Amino acid sequence: MRLKAIKLAGFKSFVDPTYIPFPTNMTGILGPNGCGKSNTIDAVRWVMGESSAKNLRGESMTDVIFNGSAQRKPVGKASVDLIFDNSDGTLRGEYAAFSEVALRRQVTREGQSTYYLNGTKCRRKDITDIFLGTGLGARSYSIIEQGMISRLIESKPEELRVFIEEAAGISKYKERRRETENR
Ligand code: ATP
Ligand code: MG
Repeated sequence: MRLKAIKLAGFKSFVDPTYIPFPTNMTGILGPNGCGKSNTIDAVRWVMGESSAKNLRGESMTDVIFNGSAQRKPVGKASVDLIFDNSDGTLRGEYAAFSEVALRRQVTREGQSTYYLNGTKCRRKDITDIFLGTGLGARSYSIIEQGMISRLIESKPEELRVFIEEAAGISKYKERRRETENR
């Protein structure tokens, strides 16, 4: 599975609708300090259900909305689409048959967050569920940011185990067991 493109609008510094294609298996994003490189990664994590504003380098969840600049007024909502190529069938369940899966999250100034899967409104849990066991996800090892290697090295055994369990593909079974036990 591969991330094919990101569409952003009103998200952090990307006030105007912006389409970023990832046409090959390896893409580098270059640019001067503050141009928005890390913001694109924040956007990916945000759509995959990141619920901590701190992990997105903000104070509150609405800090992801473009908050104005010298030339531009703030806007009322942020929205990001992630378009995945699923032609290898990595995403299972009801999405296995789709060669392309599009996820969208948007948030308004009132703090109302909405998620969509291939254009249909869904819950945050539907988004996190389809990634369980794939190695992708808001807090998975597929995004390695500054300082993460040292955090991993210094992490407590139980924190490290969460990463190993996701890499081994057993976290989805643990999640299902938790759900069954809570029924
Ligand atoms: P570096 O090379 O220093 O890591 P970068 O390219 O990763 O830089 P980012 O951290 O992605 O840069 O972008 C930071 C910019 O995004 C800052 O100019 C900041 O003002 C802007 N920014 C962040 N949040 C918002 C927001 N809600 N509204 C408007 N601009 C924002
Ligand atoms: Mg950066």
